[in-house]
This record gives sequence, C-alpha cells and structure tokens, in this order.
Amino acid sequence: MKYQQFLTPTISCQGSVVDLDLEALTKRGVKGLILDFDDTLLPLGALIVDPAVVQWVEQSKGLFKVWIVSNNPNRKFLEAMGQVLGLQTITSANKPSRRALLRVLTEMDLPPQQVAIIGDRLFTDVLVGNRLGMVTVLVKPPGNSTVFWQGGFLRRIERFLVRPLS
Ligand SMILES: [Mg+2]
Repeated sequence: MKYQQFLTPTISCQGSVVDLDLEALTKRGVKGLILDFDDTLLPLGALIVDPAVVQWVEQSKGLFKVWIVSNNPNRKFLEAMGQVLGLQTITSANKPSRRALLRVLTEMDLPPQQVAIIGDRLFTDVLVGNRLGMVTVLVKPPGNSTVFWQGGFLRRIERFLVRPLS
C-alpha cells in the first residue's frame, strides 16, 4: 500500500457524523464504531454535545458496538462526556499509534474489517484506521460551529499535503 492510500478514507462524508448513512455501514459488514471526540462529536471549544449528535449516538448504539477513542488528554472531561453518551472512552490514545485501537478491537471481539473509525483528521483517525485495515470515515465537525481556527487550519494543511499525492 502506497503511503497516500494510508491517508485516503474509505468514506469521505461531506457532512458530520449525523449525516452518515448508518445502514450503508451495516451493509458493509461493519459491527463496531470507534469514534473520535474532538471535532467529530463536539466542535473544538464547545462544551455541550449537540442534541442531534446525542440522538445519533443513541441510534448508533442500537446497531453497533461503539467506543470513543480520543487523543485528548483531559480524562475527567472525556470520561464525563462518555458517561453522558453511555460510551466507553479511551483518552490520550496517541493516534495514529495502533495500541489503543488494538485494545478496543479486542474488547469488541471484532476483526478490524468489521470496525469503522470515524474522525475528522487524516493524520490521526484515518491513518491509524487504514494501518489496521479498518473502514475509515472522514467527517466534518458537527453543528453550526464556526470552526475553531486551529482545527480549520490543521485540516487545510492536511488537505494541502494530501492533494498533490492523489
Ligand atoms: Mg478530532
């Protein structure tokens, strides 16, 4: 696999998680979801998860095994969020390191091909998912957030870096 393929998501969603076609994922054989948190479930800088996202999580839990795996080191905050959403949560995951995800795959008792990682970042979420042979889904931040400039800035850099390769 050439390295640009590692940075190409299986599915590139034009919207946020709430716009994902969950039925299409189940038809692909996906049985587990690993969710990024920052800018995937909660726009960076926001403190409250959008009700539409909460509802989406509820719907997802009815179809898949669902975990949050975040690089965010704020364990207290993330675990509180995980509790509110009813999801098990790993913080300081160090994506694109595979370690945390391998742990979740073991906990889910699913092969990587049956698990989708959903996130907003190519160099963390998509890269680690592709390294493991998972289904990778790139999404945009939810809600009507005016995206925190650093998040937008990083994404622009990533897109800039990836475009010439594809
Ligand atoms: Mg993120």
